[in-house]
Amino acid sequence: MQTMKPHVTLLASPGMGHLIPVLELGKRLVSDHGFIATIFVVTTNTSLSQSQLLKSPIPQLLEIVLLPPVDISALINPSTGILTQLAIMMRQALPSLRQAISAMRFRPTALIVDLFGTEAFAIAEELNMLKYVFITSTAWFLALTIHLPALDAKVVEEEHVKNHEPLLIPGCSSLRFDDTFEPVLDRNNQMYVEYIRMGIEMPTADGILVNTWQDLEPKTLGALGDNMKLGWVTQAPVYPIGPLIRPAEPGLSSEVLAWLDMQPQQSVVYVSFGSGGTLSAKQTTELAWGLELSEQRFIWVVRPPVEDDAAAAVFKTGKRSDDTPDFLPDCFLTRTQKTGLVILKWAPQAEILSHPSVGGFLSHCGWNSTLESIANGVPMIAWPLYAEQRMNAAMLTEDIGVAVRSTANPSEVVGREEIESMIREIMEKKGNARRARAEALKLSGENALRKGASSYNSLSHVANDCVMSLKHLKAKAHGG
Ligand code: UDP
Repeated sequence: MQTMKPHVTLLASPGMGHLIPVLELGKRLVSDHGFIATIFVVTTNTSLSQSQLLKSPIPQLLEIVLLPPVDISALINPSTGILTQLAIMMRQALPSLRQAISAMRFRPTALIVDLFGTEAFAIAEELNMLKYVFITSTAWFLALTIHLPALDAKVVEEEHVKNHEPLLIPGCSSLRFDDTFEPVLDRNNQMYVEYIRMGIEMPTADGILVNTWQDLEPKTLGALGDNMKLGWVTQAPVYPIGPLIRPAEPGLSSEVLAWLDMQPQQSVVYVSFGSGGTLSAKQTTELAWGLELSEQRFIWVVRPPVEDDAAAAVFKTGKRSDDTPDFLPDCFLTRTQKTGLVILKWAPQAEILSHPSVGGFLSHCGWNSTLESIANGVPMIAWPLYAEQRMNAAMLTEDIGVAVRSTANPSEVVGREEIESMIREIMEKKGNARRARAEALKLSGENALRKGASSYNSLSHVANDCVMSLKHLKAKAHGG
């Protein structure tokens, strides 16, 4: 690659939820701001190296490089949580990242990492590059992350974890115990240590990019820019640059899209728990009944129940008499064949959510899924499972007003009647206010990305800093 244009490197941690927004950011920097970009992807032996996603849409300007797979088997045990595993994988990938950047003929101007990549800042410093972190979640999650190290650990442990008091984040909504982020729960767990470290490293960046936009989180973004509130914990400027989502692929043909073509407008509820979410066997049964009782059309991306659920052990993912998988109620497929489509494991979500027949989304509230729903004006049923998804669900129902949510305690099974009622709430007339809100936010998100608008300008700011840095380094190299 040549160097007349500024060259940015990006580092994506494993998982579709991280890779997709990093790719979209790379594309934006290339298409809107005249950059060339190299995206380094950390892979494991089992990750999606065959994925279509890993083919660059503009190979001359945007290169996607898979770093050699990392093997962390000797560094974990059966109880190591997934977030800790991600942190360890990213640490193990640092030497190959350093080697790959050092081997480039021309030194890139900046390194942009996601939440799990902040340890790579040391490489950027050593190689004289600007360093940024891209939060592929909300500004509220960012506020929590950078504020937490400033709290006395005792406040977290005594008041929040033990007494279930909310965590107060200056200038932002406080975080209820029931919606908390799992890593804060156990100071003895390695994830707590890793998360605090990320919160300390993040404010040392030259800038923090967030996949949100001004009108979606005005209060939190205000607090992050305000020296009297959260500004005191981060000198790094915060840049809301979203919503960056993977666009639907035009003309993609698939059975599910052909089925959607035959359904009335806004009549289908789409049910999916992201790239890794699973339910217990009991919960899967209740959801099946809830969908059936709601009498709404549906697409359900279903996965076999999780194995640590006692009831799930009896399932061998075999079939019942009518082809219904044995973890769904008997004859479910026959009874719902006119109204529903069950897809195993994976579906073309961006294309489904942008289809006019889809009218609601029952989602685990992963941030990409959430943005994809809002960007298509689709109201939601919030069904958070792990990571920061409960925070997202609280924001969607209480602050933003685009979702309904179960009143059940997180550890309880949500019953079929409540599921039926939530689906009706979103899909029938009474859901109109939420739909109107989602449609208004769809427009506001589109506007934020237009040339001259808030998210576009935020990214321009980052781009200008990179151009200035490049000029400065060139002048220095020529003795200027
Ligand atoms: N996704 C998809 N098909 C599926 C499940 C997920 O295309 O069946 C995509 C989805 O559109 C989103 C990403 O994978 O872009 C999941 O990211 P998210 O942040 O919502 O959740 P995560 O998978 O990280 O929990």
